[in-house]
Amino acid sequence: MSAIVQIKNAISIIDVMERYAGINFSYVRTSREKFNIRCPFHDDRNPSFTVYTDTNTFRCWSGCNKGKPGDVINIVELSQNVDTKEAIKLLITDYGLKKPDSEQAREWQKKRAYRERSVALKKEMKKKTFEAMDALKVVERSARDIVATIRNENDLDRVGELYHVLIQIDYWFECIMDDRNTEGQIQALEEVSHFLQKMKEGEGA
Ligand SMILES: [Zn+2]
Repeated sequence: MSAIVQIKNAISIIDVMERYAGINFSYVRTSREKFNIRCPFHDDRNPSFTVYTDTNTFRCWSGCNKGKPGDVINIVELSQNVDTKEAIKLLITDYGLKKPDSEQAREWQKKRAYRERSVALKKEMKKKTFEAMDALKVVERSARDIVATIRNENDLDRVGELYHVLIQIDYWFECIMDDRNTEGQIQALEEVSHFLQKMKEGEGA
């Protein structure tokens, strides 16, 4: 990770504004994704300065920072009257970012990796769910067709256990559809994939 990316992401904009622009955030709900305060960089009567905590950026709607969205480096530039190079140097020194693997950067990397992983997991789960449902529907249909052919006790002996399969499939459908119970969904998906695998092997034999 480059030093600049590290600075832009690992250092909280709230912290930087308190430290360099003299803002007191103790009366602001900084847990929100965005909120407005009075701009520290111009004579602002109404709050026209938006802080975005989700992207760690800001924007002054009256034109500070050349009217463009800014980051923590811009905060230091504007409040300390320094150029970009100086601002970066200041942040690196003040936040002890000389080592690329500083605690803060590691923490941020971990958070990002976690976010990416859970998005990927959700996507994967959705895909698996659709695949499992499709495959189960095919099995269910052919099982129902076979069950419908039962005419006598001999037939029942031969294919009667398909009834159990149909009940099981119904149960799996219920589990997979139940969004409130993720563990149950995962368990059902595993069972379904095991079941389908076994069926495939049975066909091959
Ligand atoms: Zn401003």
